[in-house]
Amino acid sequence: MSQYSQLGHRARSVLERTKHSLLIDGRWVASHSDTTFPSYAPQTGAEIGAFALADSADTDLAVAAAQRAFADAAWRDLGPDQRSALLWRVAELADTHAVDLAQLESLDTGKPISAALETDVAEFGKFFRYFAGWVSKIEGRTIPINAPQTLAYTLRQPVGVCALIIPWNYPLMMASWKLAPALAAGCTTILKPAEQTPLSALLMGELFLEAGFPPGVVNILTGDGATTGTALTGHRGIDKVAFTGSTEVGRIIVRASADSNLKKVSLELGGKSPHIIFQDADLDRAIPGASSGVFYNAGQACTAGTRLLVHRDIAEQVTQGLLAEAARLRPGPEFDPETRLGPLISAEQVQRVRGYIDIARTEGAQVHTVPYPDATDTSELYVEPTVLVGATNSMRSSREEIFGPVVSIITFESEAEAIHIANDTHYGLGAGLWTRDLARAHRVAARLQSGSVWVNVYGPVDAALPFGGFKESGWGREMGEEAIRLYTEHKSIWMNLDG
Ligand code: NAP
Ligand code: MG
Repeated sequence: MSQYSQLGHRARSVLERTKHSLLIDGRWVASHSDTTFPSYAPQTGAEIGAFALADSADTDLAVAAAQRAFADAAWRDLGPDQRSALLWRVAELADTHAVDLAQLESLDTGKPISAALETDVAEFGKFFRYFAGWVSKIEGRTIPINAPQTLAYTLRQPVGVCALIIPWNYPLMMASWKLAPALAAGCTTILKPAEQTPLSALLMGELFLEAGFPPGVVNILTGDGATTGTALTGHRGIDKVAFTGSTEVGRIIVRASADSNLKKVSLELGGKSPHIIFQDADLDRAIPGASSGVFYNAGQACTAGTRLLVHRDIAEQVTQGLLAEAARLRPGPEFDPETRLGPLISAEQVQRVRGYIDIARTEGAQVHTVPYPDATDTSELYVEPTVLVGATNSMRSSREEIFGPVVSIITFESEAEAIHIANDTHYGLGAGLWTRDLARAHRVAARLQSGSVWVNVYGPVDAALPFGGFKESGWGREMGEEAIRLYTEHKSIWMNLDG
């Protein structure tokens, strides 16, 4: 296929397949019904493959394989060194094939190749290396209790078969946030990538097999939410669902758990993150931070700083600075190393984002868009970076997740007012603040109702630092030791030593 001539050989070998398979029990297989669905490259609209649509029969097979693998000594009885080595090996293979993975990711999501490499693929490796270290540190405790002649201790044991359901905005990275701790804990897994972005998971699956994971430990079911997602979340053979996606689907998953086997559920959901700039902030850093905080990945990020709360005295300066900063984001072909802004994932998403811009205008915001320097050769799915000036926190555009390159500028006059506006939301995933006042930084950080607070920086994550949401942004924390807790059961053992 000539259009893929610049691809690495592993990426090309994936793309040249006429039909993609499911990974079940260590083998690549067609779906039971042989039904497929397409995925498209957002930059060109080209169809990039026919992907197997896993239905309930395929899900039954994957669950059975994961259950067998969970009980099998080949996985269950692996020593910490051996399990850790498998995780580390995946990270090494991801490094070796970084460009191929990034190319597939970039093609399927439309994001610039530079971003796919520096974020998606780089973070994937970091997560596997970090959690490789946890394998040997999953410990119970001995606990003194009010019973003489008794030994009481706890064990942390893997939860079991985990369904990992992820969104389309950072496919490889989201997979690693879930797979790495689940596998470190000794669980077995079934990954369902988003329907719009199934591609990179297939090369990733090949790397798991090459690393030497036993069959059935990592299964991959491509498909849609209505068919594959529903089959997984309602399945009685699944012990846990880890989900990242919309709050709306998060609620459906909680109900599916309640209506089946009360499987454990962890949720990373949406956000409407407040990003506060106080009047004493270093604006040379805060303005670029505000821009990348909302426009990175074309705004398709759960922690995007979409409510920019700016002190009234600096609002004009920040607005002008933000517009100038956004004008530097270069759109262009996904494989051009200079491209900095990609299109949105789909026409529906573009419609949704433009709909919110219209609503904001109707509600009284002034809409400032940053025109493209040369819009002639860009994808139809681009949306210009958009700044809503004169927004209030009660506008729909300030309350609902837009998931595009749109930011509302809301002004405040006092620290108390900034905190009040920041917390006046159903969400609580991320928050940021810029100030030179150390006492204020700590004071405000403590008051923000948010799983992460970034001070004088916005948006980074680290595999070691818990991440997740207050309020309707989710249940549980990924990353760090908290992620190990998500994938382990805590068992108490009470042992009578009397006689
Ligand atoms: P989504 O529609 O909720 O989908 C997420 C995943 O759930 C996809 O794999 C989807 O399958 C699947 N799904 C859909 N309906 C389902 C159902 N009834 N049962 C089981 N699974 C189902 O979210 P999205 O549109 O892909 O992603 C955007 C959202 O994700 C935003 O709200 C964003 O804030 C959130 N997000 C949160 C985080 C975080 O860490 N908190 C990170 C990234 C994104 P399909 O592919 O078929 O839709
Ligand atoms: Mg796609």
